[in-house]
Amino acid sequence: MLPCVFNELAKSLCYYGQSLGAGRLSGNSGKLMSRVIAVANQKGGVGKTTTSVNLAASLHAVKRSVLLIDMDPQGNATTGLGLDKHNPVTPLSDVLVGDGSIKNAIQQIPDTRMSAVSGGPDLTIAEVQLMGMDEREYRLETALRSVRNDYDYVIIDCPPSLNMLTVNALVAADAVLIPMQCEYYAMEGLSALIRTIDTIRAAANPDLHICGLLRTMYDPRSNLVRDVSRELLEVFKDKVYNTAIPRNVRLAEAPSYGVPVLMYDQKSRGALAYLALAAEILRKDSEKMVAA
Ligand code: ATP
Ligand code: MG
Repeated sequence: MLPCVFNELAKSLCYYGQSLGAGRLSGNSGKLMSRVIAVANQKGGVGKTTTSVNLAASLHAVKRSVLLIDMDPQGNATTGLGLDKHNPVTPLSDVLVGDGSIKNAIQQIPDTRMSAVSGGPDLTIAEVQLMGMDEREYRLETALRSVRNDYDYVIIDCPPSLNMLTVNALVAADAVLIPMQCEYYAMEGLSALIRTIDTIRAAANPDLHICGLLRTMYDPRSNLVRDVSRELLEVFKDKVYNTAIPRNVRLAEAPSYGVPVLMYDQKSRGALAYLALAAEILRKDSEKMVAA
Protein backbone atom coordinates (compact mmCIF):
# COMPACT_ATOMS: atom_id res chain seq x y z
CA MET A 1 0.00 0.00 0.00
CA LEU A 2 1.01 3.61 -0.24
CA PRO A 3 0.51 5.22 3.17
CA CYS A 4 3.01 8.12 2.90
CA VAL A 5 1.70 9.43 -0.36
CA PHE A 6 -1.87 9.16 0.78
CA ASN A 7 -1.23 10.87 4.11
CA GLU A 8 0.25 13.77 2.20
CA LEU A 9 -2.73 13.81 -0.14
CA ALA A 10 -5.16 13.67 2.76
CA LYS A 11 -3.44 16.73 4.29
CA SER A 12 -3.59 18.57 0.96
CA LEU A 13 -7.24 17.69 0.69
CA CYS A 14 -8.09 19.03 4.17
CA TYR A 15 -6.15 22.22 3.50
CA TYR A 16 -7.80 22.50 0.14
CA GLY A 17 -11.04 22.54 2.07
CA GLN A 18 -14.63 23.13 1.17
CA SER A 19 -14.05 24.94 -2.06
CA LEU A 20 -13.18 21.65 -3.72
CA GLY A 21 -16.88 21.43 -4.33
CA ALA A 22 -17.50 25.03 -5.24
CA GLY A 23 -17.98 26.32 -8.73
CA ARG A 24 -19.43 29.09 -10.81
CA LEU A 25 -22.57 27.48 -12.06
CA SER A 26 -25.47 29.81 -12.09
CA GLY A 27 -26.00 33.48 -12.69
CA ASN A 28 -28.89 35.51 -11.32
CA SER A 29 -31.17 33.87 -13.85
CA GLY A 30 -30.32 30.40 -12.54
CA LYS A 31 -29.13 29.54 -16.06
CA LEU A 32 -26.08 27.33 -16.31
CA MET A 33 -23.15 29.59 -17.12
CA SER A 34 -20.32 28.51 -19.30
CA ARG A 35 -17.83 26.23 -17.62
CA VAL A 36 -14.13 26.41 -18.32
CA ILE A 37 -12.42 23.12 -17.50
CA ALA A 38 -8.64 22.74 -17.61
CA VAL A 39 -7.54 19.15 -18.19
CA ALA A 40 -4.25 19.09 -16.34
CA ASN A 41 -1.62 16.81 -14.91
CA GLN A 42 2.07 17.62 -15.20
CA LYS A 43 2.79 13.93 -15.62
CA GLY A 44 3.13 13.03 -19.29
CA GLY A 45 1.07 10.48 -21.14
CA VAL A 46 -1.74 10.08 -18.61
CA GLY A 47 -4.55 10.79 -21.09
CA LYS A 48 -5.00 14.59 -20.91
CA THR A 49 -5.32 15.03 -24.66
CA THR A 50 -7.39 11.88 -25.17
CA THR A 51 -9.72 13.14 -22.45
CA SER A 52 -9.88 16.73 -23.77
CA VAL A 53 -10.70 15.64 -27.32
CA ASN A 54 -13.16 12.90 -26.44
CA LEU A 55 -14.88 14.71 -23.60
CA ALA A 56 -15.35 17.71 -25.90
CA ALA A 57 -16.78 15.46 -28.63
CA SER A 58 -19.06 13.67 -26.16
CA LEU A 59 -20.42 16.94 -24.73
CA HIS A 60 -20.97 18.10 -28.30
CA ALA A 61 -22.80 14.83 -29.05
CA VAL A 62 -25.28 15.61 -26.29
CA LYS A 63 -25.94 19.05 -27.76
CA ARG A 64 -23.64 21.21 -25.71
CA SER A 65 -21.64 23.89 -27.46
CA VAL A 66 -17.96 23.29 -26.87
CA LEU A 67 -14.73 25.16 -27.50
CA LEU A 68 -11.52 23.16 -27.14
CA ILE A 69 -8.29 25.10 -26.56
CA ASP A 70 -4.99 23.31 -27.17
CA MET A 71 -2.41 24.89 -24.84
CA ASP A 72 0.24 22.28 -25.59
CA PRO A 73 3.19 22.95 -27.95
CA GLN A 74 2.94 19.29 -28.95
CA GLY A 75 -0.39 20.19 -30.60
CA ASN A 76 -1.75 16.67 -30.15
CA ALA A 77 -5.33 17.78 -29.54
CA THR A 78 -5.08 19.91 -32.69
CA THR A 79 -3.98 17.03 -34.93
CA GLY A 80 -6.33 14.66 -33.11
CA LEU A 81 -9.17 16.87 -34.32
CA GLY A 82 -7.95 16.95 -37.91
CA LEU A 83 -6.50 20.48 -37.75
CA ASP A 84 -3.04 21.56 -38.89
CA LYS A 85 -0.85 22.50 -35.93
CA HIS A 86 1.74 24.17 -38.20
CA ASN A 87 -0.64 26.55 -39.99
CA PRO A 88 -3.21 27.95 -37.58
CA VAL A 89 -5.37 30.81 -38.85
CA THR A 90 -4.31 33.00 -35.94
CA PRO A 91 -1.75 31.25 -33.73
CA LEU A 92 -2.65 30.97 -30.05
CA SER A 93 0.79 32.44 -29.35
CA ASP A 94 -0.37 35.71 -31.00
CA VAL A 95 -3.33 35.76 -28.64
CA LEU A 96 -1.17 35.10 -25.58
CA VAL A 97 1.82 37.34 -26.27
CA GLY A 98 0.73 39.55 -29.18
CA ASP A 99 -2.38 41.43 -30.15
CA GLY A 100 -4.16 38.54 -31.91
CA SER A 101 -7.86 38.17 -31.18
CA ILE A 102 -9.05 34.83 -29.85
CA LYS A 103 -12.12 35.18 -32.07
CA ASN A 104 -9.82 34.97 -35.10
CA ALA A 105 -8.02 31.94 -33.63
CA ILE A 106 -11.21 29.87 -33.35
CA GLN A 107 -11.64 27.25 -36.06
CA GLN A 108 -14.51 24.95 -36.91
CA ILE A 109 -13.56 21.29 -36.64
CA PRO A 110 -14.19 19.43 -39.91
CA ASP A 111 -17.53 17.55 -40.06
CA THR A 112 -18.77 18.87 -36.72
CA ARG A 113 -19.98 22.13 -35.26
CA MET A 114 -17.33 21.93 -32.56
CA SER A 115 -14.84 24.78 -32.31
CA ALA A 116 -11.18 24.74 -31.41
CA VAL A 117 -8.20 26.99 -30.90
CA SER A 118 -5.23 25.06 -32.17
CA GLY A 119 -1.94 24.72 -30.36
CA GLY A 120 1.47 23.88 -31.73
CA PRO A 121 5.20 24.58 -31.67
CA ASP A 122 4.72 28.38 -31.59
CA LEU A 123 3.59 27.98 -27.97
CA THR A 124 7.13 27.01 -26.90
CA ILE A 125 8.39 30.49 -27.79
CA ALA A 126 5.25 32.08 -26.38
CA GLU A 127 5.91 30.37 -23.05
CA VAL A 128 9.35 31.98 -22.85
CA GLN A 129 8.01 35.38 -23.94
CA LEU A 130 5.24 35.24 -21.37
CA MET A 131 7.82 35.12 -18.60
CA GLY A 132 8.84 38.73 -19.32
CA MET A 133 5.33 40.16 -19.64
CA ASP A 134 3.10 42.05 -17.24
CA GLU A 135 -0.03 40.19 -16.14
CA ARG A 136 1.51 37.09 -17.66
CA GLU A 137 -0.70 34.67 -15.72
CA TYR A 138 -3.89 36.36 -16.94
CA ARG A 139 -3.36 36.43 -20.72
CA LEU A 140 -5.66 33.48 -21.55
CA GLU A 141 -8.27 34.47 -18.97
CA THR A 142 -8.42 37.99 -20.44
CA ALA A 143 -8.65 36.68 -24.01
CA LEU A 144 -11.37 34.19 -23.10
CA ARG A 145 -13.67 36.80 -21.56
CA SER A 146 -14.94 37.90 -24.97
CA VAL A 147 -15.95 34.40 -26.12
CA ARG A 148 -16.47 32.11 -23.12
CA ASN A 149 -20.18 32.76 -22.83
CA ASP A 150 -20.71 31.70 -26.45
CA TYR A 151 -20.13 28.14 -25.24
CA ASP A 152 -21.57 25.79 -22.64
CA TYR A 153 -18.13 24.28 -22.06
CA VAL A 154 -14.60 25.42 -22.77
CA ILE A 155 -12.09 22.57 -22.43
CA ILE A 156 -8.38 23.41 -22.17
CA ASP A 157 -5.82 20.69 -22.90
CA CYS A 158 -2.71 21.49 -20.82
CA PRO A 159 0.91 20.52 -21.52
CA PRO A 160 2.70 17.98 -19.30
CA SER A 161 4.39 20.60 -17.16
CA LEU A 162 3.47 23.17 -14.53
CA ASN A 163 4.76 25.98 -16.73
CA MET A 164 3.33 29.40 -17.62
CA LEU A 165 1.01 27.87 -20.23
CA THR A 166 -0.53 25.61 -17.59
CA VAL A 167 -0.67 28.50 -15.14
CA ASN A 168 -2.58 30.54 -17.75
CA ALA A 169 -5.01 27.65 -18.22
CA LEU A 170 -5.54 27.29 -14.45
CA VAL A 171 -6.08 31.02 -14.00
CA ALA A 172 -8.65 31.04 -16.83
CA ALA A 173 -10.46 27.91 -15.61
CA ASP A 174 -13.35 27.39 -13.24
CA ALA A 175 -12.35 23.80 -12.62
CA VAL A 176 -9.55 21.32 -13.12
CA LEU A 177 -10.16 17.81 -14.37
CA ILE A 178 -7.22 15.57 -13.49
CA PRO A 179 -6.73 12.46 -15.59
CA MET A 180 -4.48 9.93 -13.91
CA GLN A 181 -3.33 6.41 -14.25
CA CYS A 182 -3.68 4.32 -11.12
CA GLU A 183 0.01 3.78 -10.46
CA TYR A 184 2.44 4.78 -7.74
CA TYR A 185 4.24 7.67 -9.45
CA ALA A 186 0.98 9.19 -10.66
CA MET A 187 0.04 9.72 -7.01
CA GLU A 188 3.26 11.61 -6.30
CA GLY A 189 2.52 13.96 -9.20
CA LEU A 190 -0.94 14.54 -7.86
CA SER A 191 0.40 16.10 -4.66
CA ALA A 192 2.50 18.57 -6.68
CA LEU A 193 -0.48 19.44 -8.87
CA ILE A 194 -2.71 20.04 -5.86
CA ARG A 195 -0.08 22.35 -4.36
CA THR A 196 0.01 24.30 -7.64
CA ILE A 197 -3.78 24.57 -7.77
CA ASP A 198 -3.69 25.75 -4.18
CA THR A 199 -1.14 28.44 -5.00
CA ILE A 200 -3.17 29.65 -7.97
CA ARG A 201 -6.34 29.78 -5.88
CA ALA A 202 -4.56 31.91 -3.29
CA ALA A 203 -2.88 34.23 -5.79
CA ALA A 204 -5.11 34.61 -8.80
CA ASN A 205 -8.25 32.49 -9.04
CA PRO A 206 -10.07 31.96 -5.74
CA ASP A 207 -12.91 29.97 -7.34
CA LEU A 208 -10.68 27.36 -8.92
CA HIS A 209 -11.60 23.87 -7.80
CA ILE A 210 -11.04 20.28 -8.80
CA CYS A 211 -14.13 19.05 -10.63
CA GLY A 212 -12.90 15.50 -10.60
CA LEU A 213 -10.15 12.93 -10.81
CA LEU A 214 -10.49 10.65 -13.78
CA ARG A 215 -8.98 7.18 -13.79
CA THR A 216 -7.59 6.59 -17.28
CA MET A 217 -6.28 3.51 -19.07
CA TYR A 218 -7.99 1.69 -16.25
CA ASP A 219 -7.38 -2.05 -16.11
CA PRO A 220 -8.93 -3.61 -12.99
CA ARG A 221 -7.10 -6.90 -13.63
CA SER A 222 -3.96 -5.35 -12.15
CA ASN A 223 -3.55 -5.55 -8.35
CA LEU A 224 -1.70 -2.22 -8.27
CA VAL A 225 -4.44 -0.49 -10.24
CA ARG A 226 -7.08 -1.85 -7.87
CA ASP A 227 -5.05 -0.85 -4.76
CA VAL A 228 -4.36 2.66 -6.00
CA SER A 229 -7.94 3.09 -7.14
CA ARG A 230 -9.25 2.01 -3.71
CA GLU A 231 -6.93 4.41 -1.90
CA LEU A 232 -7.84 7.20 -4.30
CA LEU A 233 -11.52 6.71 -3.55
CA GLU A 234 -10.82 6.65 0.20
CA VAL A 235 -8.98 9.97 0.08
CA PHE A 236 -10.84 11.88 -2.60
CA LYS A 237 -14.25 10.19 -2.22
CA ASP A 238 -16.82 11.62 -4.62
CA LYS A 239 -14.17 13.79 -6.26
CA VAL A 240 -13.21 10.63 -8.17
CA TYR A 241 -15.49 10.21 -11.15
CA ASN A 242 -17.52 7.00 -11.09
CA THR A 243 -16.62 6.63 -14.72
CA ALA A 244 -13.19 5.14 -15.32
CA ILE A 245 -11.80 5.14 -18.85
CA PRO A 246 -10.70 1.64 -19.86
CA ARG A 247 -7.58 0.94 -21.83
CA ASN A 248 -9.02 0.68 -25.33
CA VAL A 249 -7.08 0.51 -28.57
CA ARG A 250 -9.76 2.48 -30.45
CA LEU A 251 -8.92 5.52 -28.31
CA ALA A 252 -5.28 5.22 -29.33
CA GLU A 253 -6.12 4.70 -33.02
CA ALA A 254 -8.64 7.51 -33.52
CA PRO A 255 -6.10 10.42 -33.46
CA SER A 256 -4.23 8.97 -36.43
CA TYR A 257 -7.46 9.52 -38.42
CA GLY A 258 -7.79 13.06 -37.02
CA VAL A 259 -11.12 12.38 -35.35
CA PRO A 260 -12.51 11.79 -31.85
CA VAL A 261 -13.28 8.15 -31.09
CA LEU A 262 -17.03 8.81 -31.43
CA MET A 263 -16.46 9.48 -35.13
CA TYR A 264 -14.11 6.52 -35.50
CA ASP A 265 -15.86 3.72 -33.61
CA GLN A 266 -18.87 4.94 -31.68
CA LYS A 267 -19.61 1.56 -30.18
CA SER A 268 -16.13 1.02 -28.78
CA ARG A 269 -15.64 0.82 -25.00
CA GLY A 270 -13.58 3.99 -25.15
CA ALA A 271 -16.32 5.96 -26.90
CA LEU A 272 -18.96 4.70 -24.47
CA ALA A 273 -16.75 5.55 -21.48
CA TYR A 274 -16.26 9.16 -22.60
CA LEU A 275 -20.00 9.51 -23.22
CA ALA A 276 -20.57 8.21 -19.68
CA LEU A 277 -18.06 10.77 -18.37
CA ALA A 278 -19.86 13.60 -20.21
CA ALA A 279 -23.16 12.44 -18.72
CA GLU A 280 -21.65 12.30 -15.23
CA ILE A 281 -20.23 15.83 -15.58
CA LEU A 282 -23.55 17.19 -16.85
CA ARG A 283 -25.44 15.49 -14.02
CA LYS A 284 -23.07 16.87 -11.36
CA ASP A 285 -23.27 20.35 -12.87
CA SER A 286 -27.06 20.33 -12.98
CA GLU A 287 -27.25 19.06 -9.37
CA LYS A 288 -25.06 21.97 -8.30
CA MET A 289 -27.20 24.39 -10.29
CA VAL A 290 -30.33 23.17 -8.52
CA ALA A 291 -28.56 23.47 -5.15
CA ALA A 292 -27.31 27.00 -5.90
P1 ATP B 1 1.15 14.43 -22.85
O1 ATP B 1 1.50 14.56 -21.40
O2 ATP B 1 2.32 14.05 -23.71
O3 ATP B 1 0.39 15.60 -23.36
P2 ATP B 1 -1.34 13.13 -22.45
O4 ATP B 1 -1.45 13.17 -20.97
O5 ATP B 1 -2.09 14.15 -23.20
O6 ATP B 1 0.17 13.15 -22.91
P3 ATP B 1 -2.46 11.25 -24.26
O7 ATP B 1 -1.68 11.81 -25.40
O8 ATP B 1 -3.90 11.50 -24.22
O9 ATP B 1 -1.78 11.67 -22.89
O10 ATP B 1 -2.24 9.67 -24.17
C1 ATP B 1 -0.93 9.11 -24.18
C2 ATP B 1 -0.95 7.89 -25.09
O11 ATP B 1 -1.84 6.91 -24.53
C3 ATP B 1 -1.48 8.18 -26.47
O12 ATP B 1 -0.79 7.35 -27.39
C4 ATP B 1 -2.94 7.79 -26.41
O13 ATP B 1 -3.46 7.40 -27.67
C5 ATP B 1 -2.90 6.61 -25.44
N1 ATP B 1 -4.12 6.50 -24.64
C6 ATP B 1 -4.68 7.45 -23.87
N2 ATP B 1 -5.77 6.98 -23.24
C7 ATP B 1 -5.90 5.69 -23.64
C8 ATP B 1 -6.83 4.64 -23.33
N3 ATP B 1 -7.83 4.84 -22.47
N4 ATP B 1 -6.64 3.43 -23.91
C9 ATP B 1 -5.60 3.24 -24.77
N5 ATP B 1 -4.69 4.16 -25.09
C10 ATP B 1 -4.83 5.38 -24.54
MG1 MG C 1 -1.35 15.78 -24.34
